[in-house]
This record gives sequence, structure tokens and C-alpha cells, in this order.
Amino acid sequence: MTDPRIHLSPPHMSGKELHYIKEAFKTNWIAPLGPNVDAFEKEIASYVGVKDAAAVSSGTAAIHLALSLLKVKEGDSVFCSTLTFVASANPILYQGAEPVFIDSEPETWNMSPLALRRALQRASLKGKLPKAVIIVNLYGQSAKMDELQLICNYYEIPIIEDAAESLGTTYKDKVSGSFGRFGIFSFNGNKIITTSGGGMLVSDDEQAIKRARFLATQARDPAPYYQHSVTGFNYRMSNLLAGVGRAQLHVLEDRVEARRRVFENYFLALSDMAGTNFMSELTGTQANRWLTTLTINEKEAGISAKQLVESLNSENIDARHVWKPLHMQPLFQKCDYYSHDTDEHVGENLFQTGLCLPSGSSLTEGEQDRVIICFKNAVKEARNTELYYPRKHEV
Ligand SMILES: *Cc1c(COP(=O)(O)O)cnc(C)c1O
Repeated sequence: MTDPRIHLSPPHMSGKELHYIKEAFKTNWIAPLGPNVDAFEKEIASYVGVKDAAAVSSGTAAIHLALSLLKVKEGDSVFCSTLTFVASANPILYQGAEPVFIDSEPETWNMSPLALRRALQRASLKGKLPKAVIIVNLYGQSAKMDELQLICNYYEIPIIEDAAESLGTTYKDKVSGSFGRFGIFSFNGNKIITTSGGGMLVSDDEQAIKRARFLATQARDPAPYYQHSVTGFNYRMSNLLAGVGRAQLHVLEDRVEARRRVFENYFLALSDMAGTNFMSELTGTQANRWLTTLTINEKEAGISAKQLVESLNSENIDARHVWKPLHMQPLFQKCDYYSHDTDEHVGENLFQTGLCLPSGSSLTEGEQDRVIICFKNAVKEARNTELYYPRKHEV
């Protein structure tokens, strides 16, 4: 019999969600919108420290609305981090625009200021600057916002901060998601807090958020009948799910603490092993450690990241590869891409050598021990069966 499955990042309910759902039932605010949606928007805006927020059906929808508000259209280009989930870039295609992918830098795994500067210089020379730059905060680690903002400000290009994975992270005492013209969050089931599915668009531009709400409800003109002048979407969050979100937001700090503890335990148990290198935490930031990620130097470790993922999966443990960079995806094979340095492709390297360990805030110590033991066993086994010359210190 196999052991029960250990999930990568399962939903973690607090129990208080039912209170808000019951209230919605009592008052029959089931239909889209309602008091929970209004309150959830205010509570997120206040937590993030921005002027306004629009609750929507997904993080992807929030990115799409941001691009739509920035009037991205066919023939335009939009820069985007290459090392990310496909949802960061899909909305660029929805708008008929062209994504250009920007490599990571090694410290944060997020957008490389060097690559971004080179890409913007080139675009400027060609007279084709992008309409926006989508900067992703991967696995809960903030990108180097100061440097990236400086470059974008120079060229006057608005930033969309994809903070889907970084709610609860801070960068120089400012909350992640508050750095761009727009920020987006996801409340998908695997994120640090969840509404089962949902997202949020945030901004200091209250007019833009008002416009986002209009676009997200089929763009209905103020008329006594149904009149429409522009294409809208059906992207709003339901009042029931916003209730779940409100209760989840109450425990966000606990969830961040729990995930940071998970990281700490893995780090203590595994960072001494030759060839392992955990994602560091950028100075001046506090990461929410949404997922614990590390890279494996195959020569030093005696095992590859791929072998480790397979080995853990065979023990019913949901470990995963790091995102496959978008410029390597068949979907985007015709798109431009700028590497960190001429011969340094950081994202590709992280994809080859990186893995994510189960990191849910509800992960028990027993479950985590199981992951650690399986990890160590896999390494031991590989070292016994393959030629292995450790370069760093032995285990
Ligand atoms: C989850 C995620 C999204 C998309 O959010 P959904 O709510 O699933 O649409 C976008 N970007 C990143 C980096 C994500 O991890």
C-alpha cells in the first residue's frame, strides 16, 4: 500500500469562511457582486496599500483587464518574465499583441534588469517600445523592483506586477503587488490564500479600477436598457467566493508564517547536502515562501532534479519541476527573448536544475519528514548506483 498523497500546495481553510457564506445565504446575496465583493476589495486594497481594487474571476482575468486598460492591441508588444506560468503571458495573446520574453537573474530568479535594459534599448532603436512590462514575483520572491522600476520609468513604460504568487511578501517594507501601474493577485486553489478560484486587480488609479469593473461586467453603458459600445468581459467575482476570500485574508499572516516555517525545516534538513542550493531571500525583503524551491547541481549531488522529482512522485509526493520558461514553449516559439547575459540563460538553467517541494501551510511535520526522508533516500540510492564525485563537502 502506498502512503497517502502529499500535495504541492493544497487549499487551507480556516473554518471562518462558512460565516461569510452563511451570511450571503441568509441575505440571498448569491448572485455576482454584493457586500462581500465590496468589502473584499476594500480589505485587499487596504492590506496592499493601494487606492482601489477590483475582484475578478481569476488572476488571468486581472492581467487581461490590465492590458485592456492600457489599450494593448494587435501589433503592440508587451514584455514579460520568461520564467513563469503561462497565465502571465496568455492575456497578451488574447489582445492580439506580441509577447517578448525577458530572462531571470540568478539571485531572485525574477526578471533580470540587465536583460530588460538591453531589450528596451533595442526596442527603442527600432522605434517599437512595448505597451507594458509584466514583472512576475516567482514562488513568493519579489523581483528587484527598484532597479526594474528605474529602467521602466526611464522609457515611460507602465509595469503590471504579476503578484499571483507573492501576496503577503514585502519588498523594502512595501507590500508586493503595489509597485506597478497595476498589480494582480490570484486566489486559485493552490495559492497562499484561496477563494477556490478568483483574482484581484489593484491600482492607485481609481478611475482605471472603476473602468475595470465596467469592462468586467460586459461593459454595459449607463442606459435604461442593455446598451454596449465596447467589448466587455464576464470577469467579476461572485459574492459567495468573496466571502471565502475575506475569511482567508484574516489568516494571511499565519499562512505566510507557516510557509516560511516549511522552508526553514527543509533548509535545515537538506541544505548541507552537496549540490543543493535553496532559493535565497533578497536583502530587504520578506518572501512569503509560497513554494520552497531549490536547484540541484547534478555533478555535486550525484542526482539530477529530474530524477529527484521522479523519485518523490513515485512515493506519492507531489514535487514539481520549476516552470518551463515561456520562450521555450511551443506556443511562443516565434517570440523574441532576451537572455540575462550573452551566454547566460538563467531561466533555462533554473528549469533544468530546479524543483519545488510540497509547501502547503497545512503540511504536517510528519508529512514534511516523509518528504525529507524520501529526498535523502533518493540521493543515497543515486550515489550508490552512479559514478559520483562530490565536489563540495560530503553529506
Ligand atoms: C496562478 C498564477 C496566475 C494565474 O492566476 P489564475 O487565478 O490561476 O488565473 C498568473 N501568474 C502566475 C505567476 C501564477 O502563479
